[in-house]
Amino acid sequence: MTVKPLNILISKNLSVSELTKLIGATGNLRSQLKQDAAQTTLANRGNKVFYRGLIEFSNICTKDCYYCGIRKSNSNVERYILAEETVMDAALFAHKNHYGSIVLQSGERSDSYFIEFINRILAGIKKETDNKLGITLSLGEQSPEVYKDWFSNGAHRYLLRIETTNQLLYKTIHPNDETHSFGKRIACLENLKATGYQTGTGVMIGLPGQTMEDLANDLLFFKLFDVDMVGMGPYIEHELTPLYEAKDHLWPLQRRFDVALNMIATLRLLMPDINIAAATALQSIDPMGREKALQWGANIIMPNITPTQHRKNYLLYQNKPCTEEGADDCSSCLKLRIEMAGKEVGFDEWGDSEHFFKRSLTFKK
Ligand code: SAM
Ligand code: SF4
Repeated sequence: MTVKPLNILISKNLSVSELTKLIGATGNLRSQLKQDAAQTTLANRGNKVFYRGLIEFSNICTKDCYYCGIRKSNSNVERYILAEETVMDAALFAHKNHYGSIVLQSGERSDSYFIEFINRILAGIKKETDNKLGITLSLGEQSPEVYKDWFSNGAHRYLLRIETTNQLLYKTIHPNDETHSFGKRIACLENLKATGYQTGTGVMIGLPGQTMEDLANDLLFFKLFDVDMVGMGPYIEHELTPLYEAKDHLWPLQRRFDVALNMIATLRLLMPDINIAAATALQSIDPMGREKALQWGANIIMPNITPTQHRKNYLLYQNKPCTEEGADDCSSCLKLRIEMAGKEVGFDEWGDSEHFFKRSLTFKK
């Protein structure tokens, strides 16, 4: 089917109602959206997809987010932290398999043991790979000093999702205390940018009570905050979390999936040169979910390289994919699946956000 371009690229000042229409698009409008996003990705980020080998090195968390399966109050979780050598081995696996970059992710902690643990790992990876492996961190809210420390030890990208930009909704999905405040999260994002990180954020899609206007505002926030990277995906319930109570008021999974793809495509049109990740949660709804996202504007994929025996303990939500597989299984099938989606893998490349470099140039002027 040939579809007429939407031409919305040129009107970057889309209103909430225009964005809402795109996020909820169906039928012909949806086909147009997909086609425009694919063309925009190709023109601005090329045909390559970049790997970020995901190492979920610890599920120990001091926070209690109502949606998350590894929240501290879930006593059914067997807690773990990988030994430094095991994290190093996983990082070296990524390097040897030409992944280009890794993401170190865990529950949130800010004790000095944890901070130094990360510092040693960063320094070790940089040394062992001769500074060739790019490192993204996803370790939650930390002080400006800690962000600086980790940056100077070699991390250069940081992911901290805002989760939702509707502050009332944010309050309903988090405990009402200082540790879980929206203001603190914004301040952390500002500190990350000021430190010099390529800064990434994102939201969950299909949260109980979330509206299409909320999602449109989320996209406008990404644009206004001038982020370098976005990772967003469907919210998926976990029965051992407080938010599970709202399970009968959620959009059907397929709708969350479709809206997530529409969000990715619309964001690609709004911010053509950023990096957009194909979130793992998409894969738990549709086995080809991440590959589909690559055809809707995403250009980053995060193969899970956590040692298999620990994956079952990092269950953020139900049906989390690839919990039984090893890193080798995942990496060999993934390349093929990406090629089937008409893309190529940018092996041995960092695949940094183009937007970051443009933003930094403007900043320096
Ligand atoms: N603790 C760090 C943090 O919160 O930024 C990093 C790890 S946390 C598990 C990473 C992301 O998982 C969160 O930002 C959240 O969006 C996502 N997540 C947690 N529970 C989820 C759920 N039930 N469905 C979808 N995504 C979820
Ligand atoms: Fe902890 Fe992150 Fe889960 Fe919140 S989302 S409970 S901070 S791991």
